[in-house]
Amino acid sequence: MGDESPACRSCGARSLATVLSLGRTPLANRLLAREQLDEPEPTYPLTLACCASCSLVQILETVPPEILFREYAYFSSYSDTMLRHAEAIARRLIETRRLSGESRVVELASNDGYLLQYFVKEGIPVLGIEPAENVARVARETRGVRTLAEFFGVGLAGRLREAGEPADVIIANNVLAHVADLNGFVAGIRVLLKDDGVAVIEVPYVKEMIDRVEFDTIYHEHLCYFSLAALTRLFERHGLAVEAVERIPVHGGSLRLFVVPRAALGDDGGVRALAAEEERWGVDRLGFYQGFGQVVASLRERLRALLHDLRRAGRRLAAYGAAAKGSTLLNYCGIGAETLEFVVDRSPYKQGRYMPGVRLPIHPPARLVEALPDYVLLLTWNLAEEIVEQQAEYRRRGGRFIVPVPEPRVV
Ligand code: ZN
Repeated sequence: MGDESPACRSCGARSLATVLSLGRTPLANRLLAREQLDEPEPTYPLTLACCASCSLVQILETVPPEILFREYAYFSSYSDTMLRHAEAIARRLIETRRLSGESRVVELASNDGYLLQYFVKEGIPVLGIEPAENVARVARETRGVRTLAEFFGVGLAGRLREAGEPADVIIANNVLAHVADLNGFVAGIRVLLKDDGVAVIEVPYVKEMIDRVEFDTIYHEHLCYFSLAALTRLFERHGLAVEAVERIPVHGGSLRLFVVPRAALGDDGGVRALAAEEERWGVDRLGFYQGFGQVVASLRERLRALLHDLRRAGRRLAAYGAAAKGSTLLNYCGIGAETLEFVVDRSPYKQGRYMPGVRLPIHPPARLVEALPDYVLLLTWNLAEEIVEQQAEYRRRGGRFIVPVPEPRVV
């Protein structure tokens, strides 16, 4: 305790400059059951900051992981787009790394086995590590993916290494941003990885978040927002180096990094090219982030005005996607039951529950055609193409979608 300013999650410097404050918000993945509607809901401040020392963008608050992740509601397999993405990277790794029955693939935050299943089908030994027990059980029971329900860190990595389970490939998709002990997690990757192994790490790219005003990807589970510059400093501290980097479209624009033990680093020309671009954009300088708060506040006003005008004209509105980013957007913008009738989502786990904070009921997507709202606010804009395609019947009957970022618009 005390009034000391918080330390950077990567370099430890006490030089965090606030970029954007989203006020107090409920936990974005804490969907409510009907019987919880009478109970008070915990809220926490949500503040984005940038480290003046190592340039890592991060939030200042850390909600204990036991509260956040034990009953995580996000099942990867409910998105066709994510499944195709998973299968493609699995096939590519099997081929380029020449994986066989002698290899070992470990995925950190392996979710419901959505990705490791493609290695299992080819007879390649896998181990999933997934802290949410309810999700780990699905991986084991329905996909035959060996899964440990534990938090990954240097301790678990050391035990696995001693048990004779070093990894040829470690996959960490969309998890690094969730990790409170960032240095312990990356140190664990080094411990678990064979000297000639590779870690494939995907993170949402902070450059895209800023450029595309994806402020709704900020919530308490997402502690960090990475650039190549900030990641390079983090990995170097633990004897790792980025050998290759790709920009991929998932989650609103991500980086996929191929990370190897520093001694094994080969030609990294592609990495140097992006590093030079980041330098030019100024991604590792505070100034790059400083106008973001104003941009986000202005987007909120435009979205509220658009929805307000539609309501005043007698239009009926609903939303698609009970995802965490939807919770951030609705709660920060103050859009609730006075504007939207309900939210639909494909995950049976979410149906019948209520959105955090704004407490909108969550129904199956079929409700769109039954209730025929005039407009649907697309909260999961990262899956826009897939969802708009699936909702052909709703659109045929005159339904329209509203995409909120980077600029509210009707499509
Ligand atoms: Zn730092």
